[in-house]
Amino acid sequence: DDKSYDIVVVGSGGAGLAAAIRAHDLGANVVIIEKMSVIGGNTNKASAGMNAAETKFQKLKGIIDSKDLFYKETMIGGKNKNNPDLLRYFVDNAPDAIDWLDKNGITLSGITTTGGMSIDRTHRPESGTAVGGFLISGLVKNINNRGIEVMLDTNVIKIVTENHKVTGVEVTQEDGSIHTIKTKAVIIATGGFGANKDMIEKYRPDLKGFVTTNHKGATGSGITILEKLGAGTVDMKEIQIHPTVEQTTSYLISESIRGGGAILISQSGKRFVNELDTRDKVSNSINKLPEHYAYILFDQQVRDENKSVEEYISRNLVIQTNTLVELAEQLSIDINTLTNTIERYNNFILNKHDEDFGRTTGMRHPINKEPFYAIKIAPGIHHTMGGVTINAQTQVLDIQHHVIEGVFAAGEVVGGVHGANRIGGNAVADIIIFGLQAGKKATDYIHQY
Ligand code: ADP
Repeated sequence: DDKSYDIVVVGSGGAGLAAAIRAHDLGANVVIIEKMSVIGGNTNKASAGMNAAETKFQKLKGIIDSKDLFYKETMIGGKNKNNPDLLRYFVDNAPDAIDWLDKNGITLSGITTTGGMSIDRTHRPESGTAVGGFLISGLVKNINNRGIEVMLDTNVIKIVTENHKVTGVEVTQEDGSIHTIKTKAVIIATGGFGANKDMIEKYRPDLKGFVTTNHKGATGSGITILEKLGAGTVDMKEIQIHPTVEQTTSYLISESIRGGGAILISQSGKRFVNELDTRDKVSNSINKLPEHYAYILFDQQVRDENKSVEEYISRNLVIQTNTLVELAEQLSIDINTLTNTIERYNNFILNKHDEDFGRTTGMRHPINKEPFYAIKIAPGIHHTMGGVTINAQTQVLDIQHHVIEGVFAAGEVVGGVHGANRIGGNAVADIIIFGLQAGKKATDYIHQY
């Protein structure tokens, strides 16, 4: 028999899980539908953290930040293409989202920085582990504690409506059978299209052949489903290239390594950019090098503070040596050039001034504690900033900006929050802030259905 719910949440990444928990807690009967066999989507791969300004954890650490500065720096990073209403809602509600996670046993009290911010506001697990797995396992605990139903291996292909009201979703299951699941409201939290080569090429032919850091399920299906209902889209050409991707495995090397003190070195042994400039700028500068790749270089102090390094080492992505001379040899870099570069950079740290590239953040300590480490990287497709149009209530809007009743969207499937370039740490913030909002607004909707 076909089942019936108040709200169907499509997608089990951070946005979908947060939305489902919130809706459940507000009294809605909800189900999460996930097409893959695992929960967590691309959120599982999130590394750096969750940005928020004016949080209790910043205050505990004596970090003085402001929502307005967070707004301004995100807008500058997004080249003023960000939707002002969405961005305002985002910065205003970030501290509450941090608190909501904390209340639910997901404590992001460690704070670091990523490219494009002047103040430490990237919240992560205190232990320094990557944020994605930590977040998803914490959210899954909350899903299980509440007995919220999750259907895996179930692909939503269509939202069914009658007289402009949502009545269900159509799904296909592994055996190829098609079912309708009855519901009064739908929250689309299906993520982006960074793993859909055809869609990437359609919007950005210049990105043909780039590796992607995304999980296989990042196909943009939510955009297609919503477009069939008349939804508008925005910024579809704005596709983020992440500067530091290991190319043989497509494995992303977190920006928090640079935030923790790593630098970038070209094959000629020189720095060539402010390593913590925004992702688009760092990527462009790597692509402009004659070799089109670079090395992330760091020392034991960075490893001590960042658990992700252990992961990179266990995946054999890291070259490790006891001296800089050996490192230069292993990388076939001129020894004098490399040691000069490091000495010069260490002086910038002492003087708190980067004379060459104006780096101001993540200059935590000189690079001088053995062993030394390097990872060869180049840019890869990472995030699709564009997506469907919503308002700050997460209601999906059609091409005339009218609300499509009963249909909500949150997370990477949505466009507008990040403008032309997403700041690292803003995706996790986006999915939690707008996931919670979608759970609330969908529940409000069904209460007056
Ligand atoms: P976000 O970061 O916005 O939460 P994620 O990529 O983490 O997005 O999660 C989105 C999830 O939605 C993924 O697990 C993906 O497999 C799932 N998904 C995508 N399209 C569909 C679909 N049509 N039906 C069911 N699940 C889907």
